[in-house]
Amino acid sequence: NAGHMKKILKQRHSLPIFPARQKLLEELKKNDCVIVIGETGSGKTTQIPQYIHEERWDRKGTICITQPRRVAALSIAKRVAEEMNTNLGALVGYSVRFEESVSSATKLKYVTDGMLLREAISDPLLSKYSWIILDEAHERTVSTDVLFGIVKAAQSNRNCPDKDPLKVIIMSATMDVDHFSNYFNNAPVLYLEGRQHPIEMFYAKQKQDDYVLSTMSTVFQIHKESPAQHDILVFLTGQEEIDSVAHSIRQVAKDLSLAEFPKLRVHPLYAALPSHQQLDVFRETAPGERKVIISTNIAETSITIPGIKYVVDSGRVKIRSFNPSSGFDVLKVKKISQAQAWQRTGRAGREAAGYCYRGYTQEEFRAMALNPVPEILRSNLASVILQLLAVGVKNILNFDFIDKPSPDSVREAVEQLSVIGAIIASSDNLELTPAGRRMAQFPLEPRYAKAILCGPEHGCTDEVLTIVAVLASETIFVNPSGKKELAIRARQKFHSVEGDHITMLKIFRAFKSSKENKMWCHENFLNYRNLSYAVEVRRQLVQICQRCNIPVLSCQQNLEPVRRCLTAGLFTSVAELQIDGKYLTLSSKQECSIHPASVLFGGKPAYVLFTDLVHTGKAYMHINSIVDADWLYEVAPEYFRTRHIKKVCSAVGS
Ligand code: ADP
Ligand code: MG
Repeated sequence: NAGHMKKILKQRHSLPIFPARQKLLEELKKNDCVIVIGETGSGKTTQIPQYIHEERWDRKGTICITQPRRVAALSIAKRVAEEMNTNLGALVGYSVRFEESVSSATKLKYVTDGMLLREAISDPLLSKYSWIILDEAHERTVSTDVLFGIVKAAQSNRNCPDKDPLKVIIMSATMDVDHFSNYFNNAPVLYLEGRQHPIEMFYAKQKQDDYVLSTMSTVFQIHKESPAQHDILVFLTGQEEIDSVAHSIRQVAKDLSLAEFPKLRVHPLYAALPSHQQLDVFRETAPGERKVIISTNIAETSITIPGIKYVVDSGRVKIRSFNPSSGFDVLKVKKISQAQAWQRTGRAGREAAGYCYRGYTQEEFRAMALNPVPEILRSNLASVILQLLAVGVKNILNFDFIDKPSPDSVREAVEQLSVIGAIIASSDNLELTPAGRRMAQFPLEPRYAKAILCGPEHGCTDEVLTIVAVLASETIFVNPSGKKELAIRARQKFHSVEGDHITMLKIFRAFKSSKENKMWCHENFLNYRNLSYAVEVRRQLVQICQRCNIPVLSCQQNLEPVRRCLTAGLFTSVAELQIDGKYLTLSSKQECSIHPASVLFGGKPAYVLFTDLVHTGKAYMHINSIVDADWLYEVAPEYFRTRHIKKVCSAVGS
């Protein structure tokens, strides 16, 4: 152990941030807010909180470090605990949605930006903390953007004799900081000397039709032509794609039985990955082994994996964006920006000279946007506005946003919150209703919180909680390529004519009856870990219900009330069958179809309630239930009256 600690100390001292330690501490002492810019891997996230702790500047309150993603918060907390030679949850802890490891001894706390925002609801001054470090500021997630305003206000409100001051650090991996600096009253900017070795670039010679396939073949080309041990980092888009590519690469590697080549160790990496699998990514390779990490944009800046020499960039990213004309958030695979392309490239040259393979042509690169659009300018604001109101911010458009969302998107979100009864909006004021205040207690989209709140009235809170917990987890289905048919057949017995939500409920119940059995999951092509996660999420949601005095009743076998509750929350996501057999969403008349993975696929119910609209060329309704037109009108008469579909509803319903 002493040897191990010595090695760690040596590593810490060799990081680019180490020579800047003194200068950094001086700046932090002099200023209330400092901006730190440094390339990924320079040591910002792991070292700066330790430096502050070493000075004992955290005596009066914890140091809180935000991360846009849970994987990063978890794995960095683990790493820092190791560097400080303490157990996770003691001096160093973390807090992410539905998972926490902190104690009264915790001084360095890594949290997701969403969690800190949630804490601000009960404590807008964030008085537990003496330091708040908003990390990965360049990512400009909605939660980080809103935290800028909340932290700035907390700092100014704590600047008085009877309160302890709050110190703030903004950290970013990109250089365009004028915007941040202006926003934070011309805070000083500290640039860390980066370490960048030369990187040889390769572009696609022509446009690739199938980026997944071309990415895979590039990986094998590297693997075959450079039989060294250097690791490969691959950027793709989402969990399902990454899992399936990881599977295929493992298969091909086995089939080729590339005896003379290094052994391939394949790691998927995405935000929803269970924590122990995340940490596996950092495990050193054995002699004769090569790591291939297949990641979402999470490895762009949030997570630094040592040993990468090759980067393969698909040039794509999956982002959630709000379509104001349809009123829905959609997940779409899009081209990355040039800034992101350079971040990805940089991953190859951290420790030695490296190689970057871009799966797009130079012309395609030049056509990319320079920078990504901040999330707050492209996503549904309902959750955030609900939270801002819960924090006590009354006038949303006057809130001190670093970039103001458009009045249209605020209006849209306000309307969504009004129709589910979370707020009362008058011309100059937004008022949280008692129901809205309860909805804000749940770390969920307001529409799901609304469905839960309707549970007691229909006697089925228990079942709604289960469905929401499963939706909050990653997919519970396992569809190994080549065995898809088998998997679907194995799960047929759970299928419900009522739709996917009830099917999920039946699966969850069966999982509980099996005593949460792993083998049972395997036999039924279900993901044991994600189901177990849903059990934990559900447990926590039950706790919140208890705190809010929401009785958790069960409706047992008759599940119609469950679909009614879902309708009460998700009625803005319903599509109606047209005479020509197509579906149009009720709210915006957008054309869509039932996703082939839905149990309702092939049928033609009159009204389909959907959880998400997925765009892959066409718009598909994903995770659906059959609903009754009468329920719609019952839960939101005003809404449907203003949308002029009252006649349609009552005509079909009667
Ligand atoms: P930054 O925040 O500037 O991007 P970090 O503080 O996250 O940098 O990482 C600094 C260095 O710590 C990385 O270059 C890497 O070598 C090392 N490191 C970080 N996390 C781990 C881990 N889980 N295991 C091993 N090394 C790690
Ligand atoms: Mg970092």
